[in-house]
Amino acid sequence: MSPADAETRMQFVFALRSQGVTDRAVLEAMEAVDRADYVQGVFEQRAYEDTPLPIACGQTISQPSVVAIMTQALQLTGRDKVLEIGTGSGYQAAVLARLARRVYTVERHARLTRAARDRFEAAQIPNIIPMTGDGSHGLPDLAPFDRILVTAAAEDPPSPLLAQLRVGGIMVLPVGQSDAVQTLIRVHRTESGFDYEELRPVRFVPLVEGLGRDE
Ligand code: SAH
Repeated sequence: MSPADAETRMQFVFALRSQGVTDRAVLEAMEAVDRADYVQGVFEQRAYEDTPLPIACGQTISQPSVVAIMTQALQLTGRDKVLEIGTGSGYQAAVLARLARRVYTVERHARLTRAARDRFEAAQIPNIIPMTGDGSHGLPDLAPFDRILVTAAAEDPPSPLLAQLRVGGIMVLPVGQSDAVQTLIRVHRTESGFDYEELRPVRFVPLVEGLGRDE
């Protein structure tokens, strides 16, 4: 259980519910992961506000309600092998890890991967495998995945990721121009192809090709 006081936790969960997060398991996972562990210094005191916050490398930790909505949209079963693109702080991966069997998470900035790995170790989360790489190529050697979550916006779903989704699997990702409001979509892979569903408007940092150069 997170160390935030009862009042703060109640407000946190209320904000999630008011954004349409109703899945009990998702709400429990959101309560259990302490977001303060995934933000830095001065921002720690704002960890329970429903707002994105800056992290290293000019990136952001997503808004909690958006993390919860994306997690809910994935319809996790507890047995899933999940691929997340865009580790960032590691917060979203930590939430997924409570609801899935194993989470592979890929980040283009090695510095963010290292920081996230340290956090997973400190929190003793055994089922997240963080990696540095260009996530738009996915992880072909480890495919197929039951679920794929992309936490950076591309103009279209990257085709390698579609190819690495198991038949019957679900991918959730923001699509659209990086400087505009994007749309969160859910893709179901069927025997015959892909079904696309629009969920809601969102705003994410862009999915960028290649590795970060800030090392
Ligand atoms: N899921 C994160 C928030 C992600 S912000 C969290 O919970 O904190 C988006 C992240 O995607 C950034 O860290 C950015 O560096 C990363 N990113 C952008 N393009 C990428 C790519 N092609 N491959 C891997 N990571 C990428």
